[in-house]
Amino acid sequence: MPELDVAELAERVIAGSRLHVSRAITLVESSHQAHRQRARALLELLVPHTGRAIRVGVSGVPGAGKSTFIDAMGVRLIEKGHRVAVVAVDPSSTRTGGSILGDRTRMGALATSDGAFVRPSPSGGHLGGVARATRESMLVLEAAGYDVVLVETVGVGQSEVAVSEMVDTFLMLGLARSGDQLQGIKRGILERVDVVAVNKADGDNEGAARVYARELRGAMRMMTGDSAKTPPVLTCSAYTGAGLDEVWEAVLEHRQKLEEAGSLTQRRADQQRSWLWALTEASVMEALRRSPGVKQARAEIEAQVAAGSLGAPEGSQLLIEAFARDVADGTWTTP
Ligand code: GDP
Repeated sequence: MPELDVAELAERVIAGSRLHVSRAITLVESSHQAHRQRARALLELLVPHTGRAIRVGVSGVPGAGKSTFIDAMGVRLIEKGHRVAVVAVDPSSTRTGGSILGDRTRMGALATSDGAFVRPSPSGGHLGGVARATRESMLVLEAAGYDVVLVETVGVGQSEVAVSEMVDTFLMLGLARSGDQLQGIKRGILERVDVVAVNKADGDNEGAARVYARELRGAMRMMTGDSAKTPPVLTCSAYTGAGLDEVWEAVLEHRQKLEEAGSLTQRRADQQRSWLWALTEASVMEALRRSPGVKQARAEIEAQVAAGSLGAPEGSQLLIEAFARDVADGTWTTP
């Protein structure tokens, strides 16, 4: 396929062409150096057309019903006139290997809807790379006119933190299971949660879901120590649709509160600032790995540090010095 000029690609993305949105996302997902350069040029053209979407993170332990929920919620939002994009942060990519077919099956109704764009997580790779790709894909989708972006995360570890740093509202799907009141909601994550919805409140499970929501509400109030700061805990069923409208209302309310307090702008500014440093760190590490001096010295230094004949701090210093020499004599150039 011939490579489109970046300006033309940007234009087609802004016009909403699905084909070009796909191509633009493929470009921003690539870590190939030449592609990165084109991606940066593309994003520069797209960014002025971004920022107006409602960005919502959807988290929850595997099996909580994230895909089912996103599918049902997405369809509702489209009925309300929204255009919905779904992206994911899943560095493990255990579930579908990132195949579109996988997500088509998972989010059947949404993936085939004209008003939606479901992008599977780029497969595998380290979290930093996946988070970058997701964040940039989100910008492409916003520029293409998607006004709701749902960012899904596997409910484990650092990917939740990464997602909470790219959305306005962080929604957590809870799951009623007897005896493990706060299981899956670790303190660090809890502080980032804006709305909790206990899913699968249907059939025989409805009562248990309500009890769990009540317990969770109490426990969260204890942890925050202030009921005004305690996120709302609701119940819903992605199957029957019960409670989904209320969950969306809670998301909008949270966002409205942020806007009224001027904190939405603040939140996004903070996110941009930490993003700046995340990118810089990643680039510096990448540059370090590519530095010929570092490449040459690393095996020996690693061996000595492992054997205990060289301390890690000294070893680290030697690596930095090897890198600095490459920078100084121009052997290394900016990627
Ligand atoms: P994910 O791993 O969080 O994405 O969870 P899935 O969306 O794949 O759902 C896990 C399982 O829970 C599947 O078998 C779903 O059919 C089921 N499930 C999801 N939402 C609901 C719900 O609202 N009610 C019930 N009863 N089951 C649900």
